[in-house]
Amino acid sequence: MVGGGHNGVITAVTLARHGLRVAIIEKNPWLGGLASGLSQGVPISLYAYAVGLVPRELDEWLGLLKGLLHKPDPSWVEIEDGEVTLRWWRSRERLSLEAREAGVPGLPHLIRLIDQFWTCYKAAGLYYTPNPPSPDEAAAVIDKCSPEAAGLLERSVESILRRYLDPSWWPTIIYPSMLQSNGFALAYYLQNGGVWDQPIGGMGSLSKRLAALARSEGVTLFTGERVTDVLVENGRAKGVKLASGRSVRARLAVVYSAPIYTLPYLPTPASLLGEDTIKTLRRLEEYRVQVRRVDYLLSRPPRPPREPGWRGYPIISYWVQDVGGEFTFPSLYSDMGLHIVQASGSSKPLNPAPPGVEEGDIIAWWERGPETQAMCCGNTTGHPDHVPLRDPFIMDGRPLPGWHDYTTDIPGLYHASASSYPGGEINGVAGHNAALRILLDNGIKPRTPLYRGPK
Ligand SMILES: Cc1cc2nc3c(=O)[nH]c(=O)nc-3n(C[C@H](O)[C@H](O)[C@H](O)COP(=O)(O)OP(=O)(O)OC[C@H]3O[C@@H](n4cnc5c(N)ncnc54)[C@H](O)[C@@H]3O)c2cc1C
Repeated sequence: MVGGGHNGVITAVTLARHGLRVAIIEKNPWLGGLASGLSQGVPISLYAYAVGLVPRELDEWLGLLKGLLHKPDPSWVEIEDGEVTLRWWRSRERLSLEAREAGVPGLPHLIRLIDQFWTCYKAAGLYYTPNPPSPDEAAAVIDKCSPEAAGLLERSVESILRRYLDPSWWPTIIYPSMLQSNGFALAYYLQNGGVWDQPIGGMGSLSKRLAALARSEGVTLFTGERVTDVLVENGRAKGVKLASGRSVRARLAVVYSAPIYTLPYLPTPASLLGEDTIKTLRRLEEYRVQVRRVDYLLSRPPRPPREPGWRGYPIISYWVQDVGGEFTFPSLYSDMGLHIVQASGSSKPLNPAPPGVEEGDIIAWWERGPETQAMCCGNTTGHPDHVPLRDPFIMDGRPLPGWHDYTTDIPGLYHASASSYPGGEINGVAGHNAALRILLDNGIKPRTPLYRGPK
């Protein structure tokens, strides 16, 4: 297993549970990939913070997230002209109460509708995916749903919102650029009760869980080891070469879970992959995003606005309208007891300092962007999904035609990561399904179903 991001670990664990001997080779000293990270030597989360997208069935089978997730309370705080508004509450009961008090009873109703929609979606044999279903699949979902829930697939986000909510609430639910998208986008963003679950203690907790799970399943971990080539014998992948000069041999399969466009940087794949394949992989690398964040290192924890009765220290996102950014206060992300605040959407320290932060408490700040991701995970483009989730790289075309079933042009070399189907984000489906592909190719009957998304 090349790479120990969450997908790599899930592939490895799935294979190990089917009796195979598996080794993960991860270039960082820790697991987690884009769902963890390093900034100036401090092991804090690298950007990602929502893991509530792992299908419940997959999580139950893995036993990965039990007791780890919570919905931050509150999860969003809007600050406008110094006025603080808390949005979203942990429990549905509190959400309903707040929404009623704020005069927006349509919100809990909309969330219930979306719950219903996901039940029908799964009844139609579909699992989590960021892509809307095809017309045939949509018909199967509609067939299993009440007309109101089914209506989500038949209307635009805007027309649905118009029916349930005052427009002033729309920005707290979905990005304005998505208002004309199919209503599926709304269901996607509001799944799991309207706030995506986040790990208690930040993504560092997820990385630790992944490592514990891999160990408990007997997976061998080579951390701090970089793969520099794939060994191919008689046309079949037979192992990998490491930067340290060692080799690791594989009898059944080599799985690549680094960003797929980095495969041609390895000499043997570069010489064996077809010219067209390499051209497409290079093209994938052109899709760059410039996500920038500023991290502040503080001498004491930030003091975000709190409601009486708050306990613990939630991860809080501040959506600040004049900056257009989002602050997270993941002080618990750090194993080193440092207090860290992140502000995204900005590549400069903010003036005034982020809400809850006294300027005098800022010891240092630094900017993070695609370069940091390259340093962390080899994700040189900075794209959160490795490859953008849009035509022509979605559905059967992800990451390139013919590879959607997790195989590559090189027999015995598979791929499993955010680069592959169904795509980015922390859903683990790509890793799980890649393991199933390997099992099936080797005549081993899988004990879990394929979590398929729309074709
Ligand atoms: C800015 C940002 C925000 C995000 N927000 C969210 C969010 O809110 N919710 C959500 O669900 N997802 C989010 N994501 C996406 C999510 O973090 C990723 O899709 C997911 O973590 C990818 O996991 P992976 O295992 O497929 O790949 P990766 O995490 O990229 O894992 C690949 C692993 O391979 C290792 N590797 C690379 N090259 C080598 C080599 N040569 N030898 C050995 N090891 C190697 C890397 O170090 C890495 O550990 C976000 C991502 C970003 C960047």
